[in-house]
Amino acid sequence: MMDPLLSVPISSIGATLSKQREAFLKSPTATIHRRKANLKKLKSAILANRERLKVSVSEDFGFRSFHETDVLEFFGIIQSIDYMIKNLRKFMKRENRHVGLFFRAAKAYVDYQPKGVIGIMAPWNYPLSLTLIPLATALAAGNRAMIKPSELTPRTSSLIKQLIEEAFEPEEVAVIIGGADVGAEFSHQPFDHLLFTGSTPVGHKVMKAASDNLVPLTLELGGKSPTVIAKGHVKQKTMSRLVFGKLSNGGQTCVAPDYALIHEQDLETFVTQFSDTVSKFYPDGPTGKDYTSIVNERHQQRLIGLIEDARRRGAKIVEAGLLPESAIERIRTIAPTLVINPDDSSAIMQEEIFGPLLPVKTYRTMQDAIDFINARPRPLALYYFGEKDSDCEKLLSNTTSGNVGINNTLMHVAQDDLPFGGIGLSGMGAYHGIEGFKSMSHAKGTYEQGQWNFADLLRAPFGKFADFALKLTLGRK
Ligand code: NAD
Repeated sequence: MMDPLLSVPISSIGATLSKQREAFLKSPTATIHRRKANLKKLKSAILANRERLKVSVSEDFGFRSFHETDVLEFFGIIQSIDYMIKNLRKFMKRENRHVGLFFRAAKAYVDYQPKGVIGIMAPWNYPLSLTLIPLATALAAGNRAMIKPSELTPRTSSLIKQLIEEAFEPEEVAVIIGGADVGAEFSHQPFDHLLFTGSTPVGHKVMKAASDNLVPLTLELGGKSPTVIAKGHVKQKTMSRLVFGKLSNGGQTCVAPDYALIHEQDLETFVTQFSDTVSKFYPDGPTGKDYTSIVNERHQQRLIGLIEDARRRGAKIVEAGLLPESAIERIRTIAPTLVINPDDSSAIMQEEIFGPLLPVKTYRTMQDAIDFINARPRPLALYYFGEKDSDCEKLLSNTTSGNVGINNTLMHVAQDDLPFGGIGLSGMGAYHGIEGFKSMSHAKGTYEQGQWNFADLLRAPFGKFADFALKLTLGRK
């Protein structure tokens, strides 16, 4: 449960925003020194609380290995902060732009100005990186920020609030604790930009709420990300990279491979090798030291329901990996499970899975795989395992997804120099690196008049110069 002492009266959300906006207007230009100092302060606060945060995340999930939190959260957060510190001067640099012949000698340039106050709404599955990387981006772009973390990871959300309050003034960064009602109020605020990470259904509501104030939005949503394995490419490396992406964080990853498309001749090999690979990753079974629990009972029951629904509709269910007799008991774990040839109408093929279940469908030709993907909403990620041959080229040029991973899963998220985001129902806009910096900055174009200018001759009374210029640009009459 959310700590009632930390949750705020809903009416105070608007007051906090007003204070931040007032402070921003008093001092709207954030120097590079102030931005870097904020990023360094954030980094120190995170690292100083690293052990406590790992404990709180694990308690919130029921269990998550400290290694997993280090690799999948802290690594990305610290790398991203360091990347922004290193590249800030380049990001902030004025960009000179082209001036047309008849406007010489003027100058045109773009300055990336802080937008003001950025709202950040986060989900529970990576409760640290999905609040702190957007925050670092907002600070790098010279903004103030208000964060609404998830109520499903209450200990971690409270600890984030505490460490932010120790490091920052509330006029600079504020954390608003609460559930869906607080989220609804938060999304109605007239922020200068709102970054929402969460489910597609809630994304719809957030976009409606933001439209009341025409708040610009980045929507980082979910969906069903396919993995296509080329004929003959069910190999050890393929399988370990697939298992890594599917089972990290217990499958509760927005860009996890949601379903696999396997060549029909490879199905048997795939099932055997998937199970062998899972056994190597998790020798102690689904209650082993590196296997994450399902976040709450509702999601546990939802996942069990997906398996049962698929079984009823004729799919073959195969539990993968080991279940040693010595395995300990732990709440809310689900074994890695293959759901083979599920009917397309089954719930597991309709909704985002967000758990350690992998439906496997077979295809005959690459065109079949492309048609299957294109008959569904555009995914957040698409993964391909195989040679970079004509089939690969055909798949990538005939499908549209937020990002692509070739011969690996998840790794694109860790690249600071790649935009990260979805398209269509998987989201709009992107962040990370320069794209994040730009989305939280206003690209202010300026035209600066020079001493003299041809354009002065292009007005009444129109004369020979105007005729000459018109002939040159538009051609003879
Ligand atoms: P969610 O949409 O239920 O919640 C996200 C946030 O919205 C939470 O802070 C929640 O309190 C708030 N919220 C809930 N109801 C609201 C309402 N009516 N109005 C306004 N705010 C409301 O998502 P979740 O279950 O926490 O996270 C899982 C989803 O997030 C999955 O769909 C996953 O794919 C997606 N996700 C996307 C990314 C990405 O980067 N694209 C990353 C992680 C998770």
